[in-house]
Amino acid sequence: MTSESTTARVTLSHLDELWFQVTGTRCNLTCNHCFISCSPHNNSFGFLSRTEIQKSLEESRQLGVKGYYFTGGEPFLHPEMVEILEDTLKIGPATVLTNATVLKDEWLQRLQQAQSKSRYSLEFRVSIDGFDAETNDPIRGEGTFARAIRGVKKLVHTGFLPIITATRTWKDSEDSSMLSGFLSMLKQQGYSQPRIKLLPTLKLGAEQNRSGGYTDQQRVTGEMLQDYDRSQLVCEHSRIVTTRGVHVCPILIESPDALLSNDLATAAQKPYTLGHGACFTCYQYGAICSNISTGSGPSGASA
Ligand code: SF4
Ligand code: SF4
Repeated sequence: MTSESTTARVTLSHLDELWFQVTGTRCNLTCNHCFISCSPHNNSFGFLSRTEIQKSLEESRQLGVKGYYFTGGEPFLHPEMVEILEDTLKIGPATVLTNATVLKDEWLQRLQQAQSKSRYSLEFRVSIDGFDAETNDPIRGEGTFARAIRGVKKLVHTGFLPIITATRTWKDSEDSSMLSGFLSMLKQQGYSQPRIKLLPTLKLGAEQNRSGGYTDQQRVTGEMLQDYDRSQLVCEHSRIVTTRGVHVCPILIESPDALLSNDLATAAQKPYTLGHGACFTCYQYGAICSNISTGSGPSGASA
């Protein structure tokens, strides 16, 4: 007989965070490690409208949600992204995951004003996967390093302190040299106290083609979860809204079993069995979706 102790099942403790797949799978880039294979032509998931997001924000407020996350694709391809963040900052803190290649000064100035009028903060997570064009561009596309750095400078100039997220497409043993490379590059670019977060790759989507998928052995078991701090797993305290409904987490939106319901309250009540290889990565590394930094100075892949 299967019991709660042998099944790797996670029940939501409380819906603390709500994510929005705001631009679906549409991105201006086509990174070769993107775990949901976003691109300018991937319409698997569509854009959420501002009205749909306002409805979810209202529902989430009643459920006691404490923070909001916006991801894609590239969120700033959404024609009303600034307004959506302004709406959100009226009710809670917001984090937006961006590749920073399409940011406009006027948007950032408006967002800085919205933040200064709000009791809540706005965080930017900027994905860059190498500390120079030679290491970043083979993963994210030609010219993307220079464009992302221009975006980082705009953010810093407007008074934001972006969290630079880098996906570990190198060996774990090279972390400290990569981290110091990032720190020194960002300081040279005028970001004096950079925040950097290193993330593991998730072997799904384009990354599965690049480096191979998970083996059958790379699975979480109920025994592994005994005495494990489940609050590290985003599915323990979050859900994500997409154009298809409410899913268990931002990582598994393409997995049919991860679509829990059409409404937030029902999706919050449904436990989830960690049956995917990606769950093994979450288990191994912990806190991969949070804003907690890795390195010196306070340390993603979508966006
Ligand atoms: S991929 Fe991670 S966050 Fe998603 S259900 Fe599995 S363990 Fe939870
Ligand atoms: S990793 Fe991010 S920036 Fe790259 S294609 Fe995916 S969503 Fe776009």
